[in-house]
Amino acid sequence: MTFEIDALVIEDASRGSALAERLAGALGASVPVSFVSDAREAVRPMAAPDSLGAGKRRLVVMKRRTPFLMACPAASAKFACCGYLVLILASNCPMDCSYCFLQEYVADNPAFQIYSNFSESFGELDQLARSAPGRHFRVGTGELADSLAMDSVTGLSGDLIEFVRTRQHLTLEFKTKTDEIGNLLKIDPRGRAIVSWTLSPDAVWKSSEHRTASPSARIAAARAVLDGGYRVGFHFDPMIAYPDAQRDYLRLVEQLLSAIPAGRISFLSMGALRMTPGLRRAARRRFPNDPMLVGEEVLGPDGRLRAFGALRVRLYRALQERFERAGTRIPAYLCMESSVVHQRVFGVAPASAAILGERLALG
Ligand code: SF4
Repeated sequence: MTFEIDALVIEDASRGSALAERLAGALGASVPVSFVSDAREAVRPMAAPDSLGAGKRRLVVMKRRTPFLMACPAASAKFACCGYLVLILASNCPMDCSYCFLQEYVADNPAFQIYSNFSESFGELDQLARSAPGRHFRVGTGELADSLAMDSVTGLSGDLIEFVRTRQHLTLEFKTKTDEIGNLLKIDPRGRAIVSWTLSPDAVWKSSEHRTASPSARIAAARAVLDGGYRVGFHFDPMIAYPDAQRDYLRLVEQLLSAIPAGRISFLSMGALRMTPGLRRAARRRFPNDPMLVGEEVLGPDGRLRAFGALRVRLYRALQERFERAGTRIPAYLCMESSVVHQRVFGVAPASAAILGERLALG
């Protein structure tokens, strides 16, 4: 998969860095390269009819000025939480899902930022280990960016796996909607890396997940990395409650289980489509013809719109029951749902974030 990049901008402080060299080497012949003294000028909204879309094609290599490691932004006392930690190595994404929260989250700095000082994040991870001896953590790189979208030109997965494969207390999650697994297959993660895919039925992929790999290609890539020594997980998130949703999601599960036996799946997550009113406005403005953005929704206490609770629970239960019939209890959790919803889907109260996080890290 290749993505269109219009410009490569390198901040002076990142000149000569490994990442800038790799990107300039891979893209420099076909993409204009420029240098700026302060990248914050280059990441601002552009005078374009679709500033966010233009930002996705403007790649800025810069230093990150704030910590790389943080708690998952979805964590909240209102929800059952999975104890996920995120490592911010980039911001924005060359793909363009109509429901993506980045449309609101990075509206003020839409350029596609990649951080040249990424190796400083390794020190933060070691510090985390020192602060909590004996604990295991699951850390993902796919929160403000897709983990693998640019990996063929950044090679970052190699740096990350080199680091993590000697850290028994860490499980690194690459989360993606691509099939960019070439670099992963060149290195043995020694059990310390999970690759997870967001899976959606073809109808959602075609209408809403622009420039992503097809669901079939994602499943095939998952099978390949599993055979290459990685653990795999799947996110049915966002699940969209359109008229044939239950039938389509169950067909997708059949397709998944025919490629990957349930016992080889490290975890599953499910979550409903959820949007703040501001995100919904932005999404509908950018994708006025997407039928997945017009469902009936209710506003929750967290200020987000979701499908009605009964509809969400019915969809979650249908998938959960199908996975239970596969004969293996796969660790599963709901994202940004309350303990009550969790109990209605799984029949038990959710574990604490620390316990669930550890369970998911250890697989
Ligand atoms: S792949 Fe993920 S990060 Fe990229 S546009 Fe889609 S939802 Fe957003």
